[in-house]
Amino acid sequence: MMRVRERGLIQFSSVPAVAAVLVLAATSGTAAGALAWPPVAPGQSVTQQSGPKIYISADMEGLAGVVTSEQLGPGGFEYQRFRRFMTEEVLAAIEGARAGGAGEILVSDSHGNGQNLLIEMFPDDIEIVRSWPRPLMMMEGIDESFDGAVFIGYHAGTTNPDGVRAHTMSSARLADVRINGVSVPEAGIDAAIAGHFGVPVIMLSGDNAIAAEAQAIIGDIETAVVKQAISFHSARTMTPAAAQALIRDTAERAVRRIGEFRPYTPQTPITAEVRFKNYRPSQVLALLPMFERPDAHSVVFTGADMLEVSRVFHFILQYGAVIDP
Ligand SMILES: [Zn+2]
Repeated sequence: MMRVRERGLIQFSSVPAVAAVLVLAATSGTAAGALAWPPVAPGQSVTQQSGPKIYISADMEGLAGVVTSEQLGPGGFEYQRFRRFMTEEVLAAIEGARAGGAGEILVSDSHGNGQNLLIEMFPDDIEIVRSWPRPLMMMEGIDESFDGAVFIGYHAGTTNPDGVRAHTMSSARLADVRINGVSVPEAGIDAAIAGHFGVPVIMLSGDNAIAAEAQAIIGDIETAVVKQAISFHSARTMTPAAAQALIRDTAERAVRRIGEFRPYTPQTPITAEVRFKNYRPSQVLALLPMFERPDAHSVVFTGADMLEVSRVFHFILQYGAVIDP
């Protein structure tokens, strides 16, 4: 599908967002130093809609510095700082994408409770998808109007022996997720959802393990490797500011090359397999005629396309017969 790719004026911030970043820079030392946007004068336009339309999905395990659950959820002693680092890595991707000519950008908060990003720090022409459930999971909101997808803070899949916090969709519950027989990380699932709409993945940031895994499955994408995995809970990492500078430059390069990337499109209908760590989910799901249970831990089903597969994956992870609203 041909889309308009004219390069518009690059004006990528609003006064409140700049103020937030400047306050942050003043109070937190170097962390926000890489994100010193040029201030926008009063009356200047803050929107730029004419370039390639970009979808950014942000996870947390692949951020610079993340190694344990202390950084990853509200119970961790470092979580509040790492919410800010997550936000700043996404802001760096936005800044780079816009330097490369990007127009409209939609951001997805794709980690944990889906409420990690500090939404007040974003430019006013950015919108953010938050919380769950949502049928397209980490890719909610993407459609055929987008020109490229960017994955920030991504991590290796659950069958990868090397990645920091390597898991697929649920570290506690799943041991493997396969699409047409291929074990896929979240980046592979999300690339296939984007591919359903004809949208290529153009960039990923994370550790060296997911960068290699994603390139092996998706093909040519730009990668920003912000840390080297040592083990599931250890890494040799860049600083947040250095990682943000790398992400900014990588995003700019990816958007400049946007015409060269190809969508990831597994053949349809899609055979999908989910392997659970425990027995009960496979046993209960196998009561439904759409699932087969090839062994004690796994279920297999066929989806007409990746949208159907995404919905079933999300159902499997979300469903519980609870009475909460
Ligand atoms: Zn994840």
